[in-house]
Amino acid sequence: MSHPAPTDPTSAAAPEALLARVFGYQHFRGRQREIIEAVAAGDNALVLMPTGGGKSLCYQIPALMRPGTGIVVSPLIALMRDQVEALKANGVAAAVLNSSLAAQERRQVEQDLLAGRIELLYIAPEGLLREPILNLLGRCRLALFAIDEAHCVSQWGHDFRPEYLQLGALRERFPDVPRIALTATADERTRTEISRHLLPDGGQTFIASFDRPNIRYRVGLKNNPRAQLLSFIDREHRGHSGIVYCFSRKRAEQTAAFLYQNGLTALPYHAGLSADERQAHQDRFIGEDGMIICATIAFGMGIDKPDVRFVAHLDLPRSIEAYYQETGRAGRDGLPADAWMVYSLADIVQIRQMQANSSAPEAQQRLERERLEALLAYCEHAGCRRPPLLSYFDEEHPGQCGHCDNCLNPPETWDATEAARKGLSCVYRTGQRFGAGHVIDVLMGNATERVTALGHDRLSTFAIGSDLDRSTWQSVLRQLLALGHLQPDPAGHGGLQLSERCRALLRGDEQLELRRDAVPVRRKRAAGSRVEVDTDSPDWQALRQWRLETAQEQGVPPYVIFHDATLAAILDARPQSLDELARITGVGQHKLDKYGGDVLNVLAGLD
Ligand code: ADP
Ligand code: ZN
Repeated sequence: MSHPAPTDPTSAAAPEALLARVFGYQHFRGRQREIIEAVAAGDNALVLMPTGGGKSLCYQIPALMRPGTGIVVSPLIALMRDQVEALKANGVAAAVLNSSLAAQERRQVEQDLLAGRIELLYIAPEGLLREPILNLLGRCRLALFAIDEAHCVSQWGHDFRPEYLQLGALRERFPDVPRIALTATADERTRTEISRHLLPDGGQTFIASFDRPNIRYRVGLKNNPRAQLLSFIDREHRGHSGIVYCFSRKRAEQTAAFLYQNGLTALPYHAGLSADERQAHQDRFIGEDGMIICATIAFGMGIDKPDVRFVAHLDLPRSIEAYYQETGRAGRDGLPADAWMVYSLADIVQIRQMQANSSAPEAQQRLERERLEALLAYCEHAGCRRPPLLSYFDEEHPGQCGHCDNCLNPPETWDATEAARKGLSCVYRTGQRFGAGHVIDVLMGNATERVTALGHDRLSTFAIGSDLDRSTWQSVLRQLLALGHLQPDPAGHGGLQLSERCRALLRGDEQLELRRDAVPVRRKRAAGSRVEVDTDSPDWQALRQWRLETAQEQGVPPYVIFHDATLAAILDARPQSLDELARITGVGQHKLDKYGGDVLNVLAGLD
């Protein structure tokens, strides 16, 4: 069943030659080349790569190398359209086959397919599994099956799609066609399920590093979230595209309205909007430069926009995986991008309470508690952010990445054993019914009306913490809560209680180091992994304007013409000729022919 791949890199059909000619890139990333070789040679493959890692090329290039059509199975119709546009812009014969096509278009695609005129065909799983389609494919020469978002086969995941289970049937039906399954979800269980259902006949597994070196991770304390967000965007991301994740529909609406009132183009996205509204907002986000979407978790899967410059979390995500997947939507083009989050003690109380009131089966509740704990430990972590993030994907990172908040401004830690004991005792003495505000009043010796009315000014813990200020106490209680020494009372009134875990601390058997909360500092310039863009420069604006007009003429998103990274490289290199332009990353032969003259004209008109 193997068609040995030509490995002579000078051959026109060699992976390198296709990479340069069709896609305009000079080098493969990570393990792309190995994967391409394996699939081109007819092997099955399981590919685990983070969002933005470059999965598409892993099946697109082998499909071009092998005779016949590559069939790409993807659950996301919007994503398919995007990918097909991008392929066509590179001169590749690609098409979509789905229920949105008119009968006439559909017949055309079928004819082209039978005539062998299509190199890549994108199709949704439910469409593919219909007998007439399987029949049609049976009469074509097929290069491969690429099964994207392969984690949809996992019944444990959030994205389970029953049709994915049936994709296992492809093996019997098309025994000679290699299958490549791809996903950005890397946990062991999902991995095993993908292999079992989609590649039961075996295949090579390729696990890429999940590190995203161009993303800078930052976690801060929430005090005035919207103002903090606005100042973050104002200072660092004026005119950039970004996503703001919010906990609820209402918060997404309010945040979008607030940003809008402050002169930013922001729109909400959540399950409360009609399907048409959601589509319209998503289309604008993809088609326009500098749009911000304020969204609940409903947004993002299948958003293939490469130039999202920041992902902000105004509320805690569900888990580290969710956080990593959501933040992974930033900086797919490899340029510097920010993952920015703020959270507060109240957030922890709220989530813990929701969990306590959950009616889910015990096993699932335990899983959710563990997920939250891991996430909180990440938030409060005082060292480099990458080791705890990547250890979630079974990957070791040496730390000291130099590109996260803790590396850039190492937080101080202090011996908080004594303070923690005072705090815990005070929670106990006041009856484990009160929220942080009241407990802190008692600790600091504030004889408020409530404190005196309750007689809490006569407790032994009254004023035992007057040596620390209010924000320090808040920091201590928050971290005790995050670390699980405290828990919210199950009645859901926001009161704090001791938990089992604090015993050792109270007995004096345990020391506690806590981080000192950072005072917000101004940012240093991002250490970008690629060319830096001065987004205020008139030259940049001119190139972007040309790109926007060209994109609008052709009815495609701007990044289908050229990515930001490519525009930046063009500005940096200032090519004088088509030959020089061809050497720039992202400029393939097709785009050179189509836009080369225009780009040189725009460049000639600068200065
Ligand atoms: P994902 O793994 O999320 O599907 P994509 O395949 O969309 O990622 O790739 C992410 C981005 O990286 C795309 O814009 C793609 O063009 C770019 N890319 C992929 N491989 C390379 C490469 N070898 N050199 C340069 N850019 C690449
Ligand atoms: Zn770091």
